Amino acid sequence: MTKYADLHIHTYYSDSTFSPEEVISHAKAKELSAIAICDHDSVDGVEPCVKLGEACGIEVLSGIELTIEKPDVEIHILGYLVDQKLEWLKEKLKTIQEYRIKRIHKMVEKLSAQNVFITAEDVFKVAGKGSVGRLHLARAMINSGGVKTFWDAFDKYIGFGKPSYVPNIRFTPQDAIGMVLDAGGVPVLAHPGIMKRDDYIPELVSYGLKGIEVYHTDHGDIKRKRYEELAASLGLLMTGGSDCHGTGKGRALIGTVKVPYELVEKLKAAAGSGKNNQ
Ligand code: AMP
Ligand code: FE
Ligand code: FE
Ligand code: ZN
Repeated sequence: MTKYADLHIHTYYSDSTFSPEEVISHAKAKELSAIAICDHDSVDGVEPCVKLGEACGIEVLSGIELTIEKPDVEIHILGYLVDQKLEWLKEKLKTIQEYRIKRIHKMVEKLSAQNVFITAEDVFKVAGKGSVGRLHLARAMINSGGVKTFWDAFDKYIGFGKPSYVPNIRFTPQDAIGMVLDAGGVPVLAHPGIMKRDDYIPELVSYGLKGIEVYHTDHGDIKRKRYEELAASLGLLMTGGSDCHGTGKGRALIGTVKVPYELVEKLKAAAGSGKNNQ
């Protein structure tokens, strides 16, 4: 039987509704051999999932999803096989998470100028133990009746460049890619079809990018083919995953996008080339 992996899964340690138990039970139901936990600016979900996975024969890869802020676009970088136990990594992530809390306060203030009235506490309640973000904010906006749908929240208020949008901590390509490499991981460009700025890819490669997430929920046939060709021409790995947020964005997507297990072997072979990961 061919073995498959879904290499882009969130937990409630960032903006998914799924606990580690739910992630693993869905992965098992989908007969996945491996999954990668890629929470926004957090590695807290990795170890609980590794433990639960071990008990039922699912290999759990450590991972992270970082955000690069450019003036005109935000770029997401996946870091596969980062060492989640590194103290400096945890410290850096704590700083980013603290910034995310301040950012929510700022966005809530901006929303009041757009006549949407919620408190930062409403958002933190939705986020629970998760690294707080715009998906939690959107849910709090829906709960308060300020918007009807999740899409309204992003399209009118908190999407990139919309009136109540506030950028994440200033993080450059060198910062994000360097952090993944230093933590022993493999930096991969997440869902380039959402960013739609392929002109930034050579710069990312120059800082050590090693792969492109070719297979993704938001990539149709045309984008898939485009990024297969681009990755091949640049000599980059082609990764893939569902970007499952539990039921945070509608139905649970886990297992709907998957790649053959050989890709996991390739990621392992590419890992650990960073310098400061002792
Ligand atoms: P944050 O890390 O707080 O900036 O939030 C990022 C989350 O918001 C990710 O899960 C994105 O997929 C989601 N997101 C960003 N922009 C949009 C959008 N326009 N529509 C739907 N989801 C979005
Ligand atoms: Fe997310
Ligand atoms: Fe993303
Ligand atoms: Zn994601």
